[in-house]
Amino acid sequence: NEFEQANIISILEDICMLMRSQARMNDIDLVLETDVEIHEIYCDPMQLKQVFINLIKNAIEAMENPGIITIRINTNEILTIEVIDEGPGVPDSLKEKLGQPFFTTKDKGTGLGLMVTLDILQNHHAELSILDREPQGSIFKIDFK
Ligand code: ADP
Ligand code: MG
Repeated sequence: NEFEQANIISILEDICMLMRSQARMNDIDLVLETDVEIHEIYCDPMQLKQVFINLIKNAIEAMENPGIITIRINTNEILTIEVIDEGPGVPDSLKEKLGQPFFTTKDKGTGLGLMVTLDILQNHHAELSILDREPQGSIFKIDFK
């Protein structure tokens, strides 16, 4: 583990730049919304990058139509980061199962992305919740304590 003080906003800018071409190939815009330009947290930047690659990849794979994936950062109270997609959403009956090793609904899925994600977030004392987006889609919301 390589924990250090790092600007989470620039970490997310890097990841958006990295993932944007894959999104564009699927006619998806990747938009970063943030209330501040600098917000330093104690974290392992490489691990957190892996988290956002996993979540954005899942969002792209979930969306069958052109649309927008929004990464929304809010630092108002605690730091929260939401990955918001316009896919079909996660049925309530499956929400509990996501993140269990090898749980996948994809033909060629591994079911490991969210497991790794939860593990990394636990190292950061952060929590993931899966919410419904209206009118359609899902929100993977991370709360940093
Ligand atoms: P994989 O992507 O290999 O299937 P993950 O652990 O990344 O494994 O995801 C597990 C499952 O969670 C997926 O197969 C899918 O059913 C569900 N899932 C994850 N992200 C989303 C999303 N943004 N929208 C809908 N379902 C999702
Ligand atoms: Mg995945």
